[in-house]
Amino acid sequence: FLKGKSAIVTGSTSGIGLAIARALAAEGAAVMLNGFGEADAIEAIRGELSVASGADALHDGADMTKPDEITAMVDRAHAAWGGPDIVVNNAGIQYVSGIADFPPEKWDAILAINLTSAFHMMRAAVPHMRARGWGRIVSTASAHSLVASPNKSAYVAAKHGLVGLTKTVALETATDGITVNCISPGYVWTPLVESQIPDTMKARGMTREQVMNDVLLAAQPTKEFVTPEQIAAFALFLCREEAKAITGANLSADGGWTAA
Ligand code: NAD
Repeated sequence: FLKGKSAIVTGSTSGIGLAIARALAAEGAAVMLNGFGEADAIEAIRGELSVASGADALHDGADMTKPDEITAMVDRAHAAWGGPDIVVNNAGIQYVSGIADFPPEKWDAILAINLTSAFHMMRAAVPHMRARGWGRIVSTASAHSLVASPNKSAYVAAKHGLVGLTKTVALETATDGITVNCISPGYVWTPLVESQIPDTMKARGMTREQVMNDVLLAAQPTKEFVTPEQIAAFALFLCREEAKAITGANLSADGGWTAA
């Protein structure tokens, strides 16, 4: 149902972003991949998405800490396909430390990648969406957009901010055929999460199962990880015509985390 439409998905060389890019391509969208990684691996993903969608996928290595590179990526998508019709603000990083020791440069990087990049993306893309009278903006927030955990000050602040930005731009575009929403996952099974397990096993003297259930899934009542494919299916739904009334929302997919 997305034939003829184009999408930029930030942070789509891995994890949730990659799953969203695949879901959009499977429905026929031309996809601009973004994110870091090995050239061969990225080229393989680009090829896979081009075959799936029937439209040449592109990769842009824009660094989400650099406003000029973000704007240039939107310009490149516009030159290639018109639009972009769909923007998914997904790139994100984490850093865990108490406030007294939190490195200021980590604060700056997390705010830049997890929040400010979405401002630059929306600022550049909304005029193109308005010109076409249609647009979908979906941002990957987090359960940490609704509740906090200790030692994640920058991440929690950035994700709360992303929800405020989303609500504001939703109001500004409400009569333009554009919807602007956040999806807020709980713990999702991605390389990012999986790679934390061995260190935590060592640090706490725990088994793999103990780390998964007592640490990672401690706050997630279902005791199951969310999957990237579940988040991708949710994002895809928000791109449908049936979802046009959903705007300015922060939608949870967190296994009950924020119900507690
Ligand atoms: P991931 O590490 O698997 O993927 C992150 C992506 O962002 C990669 O493609 C990476 O190259 C890219 N990236 C990182 N820094 C970048 C930069 N400066 N410029 C451009 N791209 C950059 O992570 P993930 O788990 O898939 O997370 C994706 C999003 O989902 C993030 O915003 C994260 O906060 C959010 N999220 C994740 C979880 C989870 O449990 N995994 C839960 C809630 C929210």
